[in-house]
Amino acid sequence: VKDRRLTENTEMSEKSDCVGSVVANHYNQLLERGVAERKESRIFHMRNLNNWIKSRIIGNILDQIRKDNGSHCRLNVLDLGCGKGGDLLKWERGNVHHVVCADIAETSIEQCKERYATLKHRSRNNVFSAEFIAADCSKESIRERMADRELKLDLVSCQFAFHYSFESLPQAEQMLANVSSNLQPGGYFIGTTTDANDIIRRLGRNEDPENRKFGNAIFSVEFPEETPLDPPPLFGAKYNFHLEEVVDCPEFLVHFPTFEKLAKKYGLKLVQKTRFEDFVRDELVHGKDLLMRMKALEAYPPFGNQRPVSQDPIDYHHVREYLD
Ligand code: SAM
Repeated sequence: VKDRRLTENTEMSEKSDCVGSVVANHYNQLLERGVAERKESRIFHMRNLNNWIKSRIIGNILDQIRKDNGSHCRLNVLDLGCGKGGDLLKWERGNVHHVVCADIAETSIEQCKERYATLKHRSRNNVFSAEFIAADCSKESIRERMADRELKLDLVSCQFAFHYSFESLPQAEQMLANVSSNLQPGGYFIGTTTDANDIIRRLGRNEDPENRKFGNAIFSVEFPEETPLDPPPLFGAKYNFHLEEVVDCPEFLVHFPTFEKLAKKYGLKLVQKTRFEDFVRDELVHGKDLLMRMKALEAYPPFGNQRPVSQDPIDYHHVREYLD
């Protein structure tokens, strides 16, 4: 991390305005939709697919942890970027003991609390305990805000949220510190995020070097002029992501080898990395019934069936030395 190029990158992104408040405002203003309204949505199947994928990832890792530690172990979890609590039911089904829910958006944290209260009421208190922290997890340590600062976690889950921290190296590092410092040895970090190479490939700059946008009637990805693309910076490679009804805010490319290397610095070792379409294919063997019940199969594969090219389209030649 002392590499000169990374230092340059850090300085560059420190100069730019931080988008944390933009992201928080966006998620704070998202309206809660009822079940009926959600069924009408054009992204109904895609949401269900994403939810099913998360269910499988969470279910699988909880099985693994119980295999590692014995089936009666009490599992403590951090849901990093928990949003409104879309995964609370998964934690209930997974029979975990305690969940720390953290998110930058205060309103989402309030909605998460309400959802948890409903869940607790319905299950007559026979559900995991939980605590709720509104914090920018790319800027501050969650441990300082946890009810029990000595608590060590078995699992950190960061679903569709890690990419926000790639705004700068210090932010990505703080996010990883929040993962690593809270996990006990042998604990797991799971997550879902975007694929930088796939995004750049879809821009199709080979055909038109001016291209900065792609998408369809439902989603779009657009790089503002201020984001260099040939090549993109390791941190702060900002694009605006629009997804009908759900997202309309800036995100950052996550260069996976850099992520992996940083994670290693924080004591984490990569066990598995899978693209959604491959994950779905493998999991269908076991989970097809649930997928059918959740009416998610129609959305597979997400966003069309283009396969990633075998050669990485991002020329990160300027960081090769750092990676080597
Ligand atoms: N994990 C939830 C899920 O899967 O339903 C929510 C995913 S939503 C796409 C991304 C979430 O990341 C939002 O709730 C947003 O507020 C949160 N987020 C973004 N940047 C964050 C940060 N720096 N610290 C904590 N949460 C953040």
